[in-house]
Amino acid sequence: QIDVLANISLPEDVDDANEYGADGIGLVRTEYLLSNRKEMPSEDVQYDYYKRILMKANHKTCVIRLMDIGGDKVPQFFDMPLEFNPFMGWRAIRIFLERRDIFETQISAIMKAGQGYEYSIMMPMVTTLQEWLEAKAIIAQIAARLNMPMPRCGVLFEVPLAILEMNTFMKEIDFASVGTNDLIQYLSAADRNNAKVNYLYNPIEPAFLKIIRNAIKCANDNGMPLSICGEMAGNPLHTVLLVGLGLRRFSVIPRNIPLIKELIANISFAEAAESISHI
Ligand code: PEP
Ligand code: MG
Repeated sequence: QIDVLANISLPEDVDDANEYGADGIGLVRTEYLLSNRKEMPSEDVQYDYYKRILMKANHKTCVIRLMDIGGDKVPQFFDMPLEFNPFMGWRAIRIFLERRDIFETQISAIMKAGQGYEYSIMMPMVTTLQEWLEAKAIIAQIAARLNMPMPRCGVLFEVPLAILEMNTFMKEIDFASVGTNDLIQYLSAADRNNAKVNYLYNPIEPAFLKIIRNAIKCANDNGMPLSICGEMAGNPLHTVLLVGLGLRRFSVIPRNIPLIKELIANISFAEAAESISHI
């Protein structure tokens, strides 16, 4: 079975996801909460947002990504030090480990809203296992304080060091997702938003596909669910390749779901494997 889930930002996006036949929500980009705000959203504001999403997701799986602050997503009010290289700077988990207030507010709001729902928590921009273990320990502390079970937690593999060492994460995560948008830019040293270097930003570069294949194999060998939630997964030109690489879980923008499902339904595993036999 191959699942096609949806990437969303707004509660209303879940309606689209349902309409287009999503098998669940594979990525909630919670930075939406930060747009047009003068301050960090309170726990109550966040609780409402997660609750609305989870209610609409209607007990299907829902992966809530913690706020990916930094890089191209710096809220106006956030006191970000001047960075010459924001994508390589203070971002996501790197901020959470220092700004425990932001981290704890988001985790508490998600856990409270998530009671009785199929939700899981995903951490962006993890580089080392050590970093992830530190973050996971904080999540466990909050769960204990709230007297709630530890939620399912996974890592968004989008930094080369992390994906190349994915095997070391296996015992410490409940699922894996690959963020190809950032991963490609970090591997090719080509800014994802810079048209001048766009020719280097290539998801079908053989060296990149080998890294994806190894990651999928590592997850499959360990019985670990793995999805790809970067734009690559929603590009119909790459669907056959990704099935050939062993991918069984796609997460894509809602309106692409029917097309991706149709493509998957019309290929055999043998054909898909053949399409990737050159790497
Ligand atoms: C990614 O990097 O592939 C990803 C899913 O996250 P974002 O595009 O939000 O950085
Ligand atoms: Mg990313």
